[in-house]
Amino acid sequence: MKKLFLSALLAVSCISVSCAQKKQAKEYKVEEASVSATLKYLSSDELQGRLAGTRGLEQAGDYLEDILKKNGIKPYFKTYKDTLTNFKNTTYNIVGYLEGTDPELKKEFVVFSAHYDHIGVDAEGENGDTVYNGANDDASGTTTVAELAKYFGKMKNNKRSILFCFFSAEEAGLMGSKSLAAKLKEKNFNLYAMLNFEMVGVPMNRDILAYITGWHKSNMGDKMNEYAGKKLIGYLDVEMKYQLFRRSDNYSFYKEFDKPAQTVCTFDFENFDYYHKVQDDFEHMDIAAMTSFIQQMVPVTYKMVNAPAGDIVMKKE
Ligand SMILES: [Zn+2]
Repeated sequence: MKKLFLSALLAVSCISVSCAQKKQAKEYKVEEASVSATLKYLSSDELQGRLAGTRGLEQAGDYLEDILKKNGIKPYFKTYKDTLTNFKNTTYNIVGYLEGTDPELKKEFVVFSAHYDHIGVDAEGENGDTVYNGANDDASGTTTVAELAKYFGKMKNNKRSILFCFFSAEEAGLMGSKSLAAKLKEKNFNLYAMLNFEMVGVPMNRDILAYITGWHKSNMGDKMNEYAGKKLIGYLDVEMKYQLFRRSDNYSFYKEFDKPAQTVCTFDFENFDYYHKVQDDFEHMDIAAMTSFIQQMVPVTYKMVNAPAGDIVMKKE
């Protein structure tokens, strides 16, 4: 009787746990306060514009490492810090790892990434402001990836394995992502898809939430809309005009792996005047819109890491 009672109790508790998890997944709420706090710290004057190789960027890295640690995301290498092999000064990518739950699909990786470096300080500055805070570029994308790490770290509902990457020295020519992509390629890293986030702190005044670079390279944009159940992501002319596909860290992975590796962005060259200016400050970010953006990325990224094999693929050009 005792035995029966125990196993019955176990069965009941298991059922209630899985129900609770499903409910949580549906009701998961990205908190504005959390988005605001991360973005505010990363773009604070204390970090002195987060130039690769400076103390300011190292502090930012420690902060991101702490978020990963607190949310059950493990280091992919021995530590979270992945030293760049191609940069004059010592600087690190921050790389976290969450193993997939499916015995087969977990062999594939989805990479969520953003660059956490920016361009430092300017002795002259403008109107007494000398710090390039890089709130939109790319503390906003970094905050997005940090929020996704919080979500997946809590839910652990990912069939595929996930790599959370915060790149250094993007502004010096995609150096952090080049270094990491080459290192992973050597280890036969099995990349399924990479979704990089750039400048998502100010909403676009358009009928899409964001655009994706390299729209024609793969079916990722279409798939993201399918996962969202509506048209969320679109194609933008400026993307081709400025060759944006090659201008962020997704490009390093695309070149190394020849797999879908693209950047989602809401900066359309009309909605923000402070690109690479000292006024790229926290005060100019729309926290409510950004929180809503991340909230809408949650189910999309969830479906991305759980989709059946071969769902997101390259297109023949
Ligand atoms: Zn950037």
